[in-house]
Amino acid sequence: MNVADDATRPNYSPDTNANRWFVGPDFLRGPDSEWPAPINSPEESAETYACQADSIPPHLPDISRMYERDAGADHCGRARISRPMPQADPAKDGVLRLDGRISAATASAAAKRPIILDGRHTFTTLLVQREHETAQHANNERVINNLRQKYWILHLRPTVKRVARSCARCMVTRSIPRTPPTGELPRARLDPTHSLSLSHPCDALIGRARRSLKQ
Ligand SMILES: [Zn+2]
Repeated sequence: MNVADDATRPNYSPDTNANRWFVGPDFLRGPDSEWPAPINSPEESAETYACQADSIPPHLPDISRMYERDAGADHCGRARISRPMPQADPAKDGVLRLDGRISAATASAAAKRPIILDGRHTFTTLLVQREHETAQHANNERVINNLRQKYWILHLRPTVKRVARSCARCMVTRSIPRTPPTGELPRARLDPTHSLSLSHPCDALIGRARRSLKQ
């Protein structure tokens, strides 16, 4: 029985400080070799077995591994994927490629079977960055079009936007020049009695209407 549960028992009465609820179980005061071996709970053992059964053989690429770093994974290493995976064909050349029914198309083989990548992975970010620079920092739609000739990137548009937003050269291009500070106004323009005389009618702009002022 767990020592920590002693205080929750209805007939528990810790009469002395030597009670094991205060000092801990007896084996804690003995050598490590005499400690009881840890026992896995049935739920934990079943979960570990399920993880091993669901694991993919190492020779097949597993795109879910890409999510482990950025999207997080549970304690068994399985990734949490928030969106459905595209239909994939993992067998041919060791790379996970998009499956489809357009084998007879005249497009290139890479365009018909694009490589599936995770846009949140560091490798994909570097790939998008290279394509962004190869396109001479062009607009995002051109970069997206170039990437889709070879790759099927999840979260493609947000990834391209993020790379363009963090590009130093694009920051300079997008920047708006600051208005330089103007000089001080001369006193003649600030003194109301110096240049304005109301001895004669004169036109003045009041609001949007031009009116004649008479003294
Ligand atoms: Zn750029």
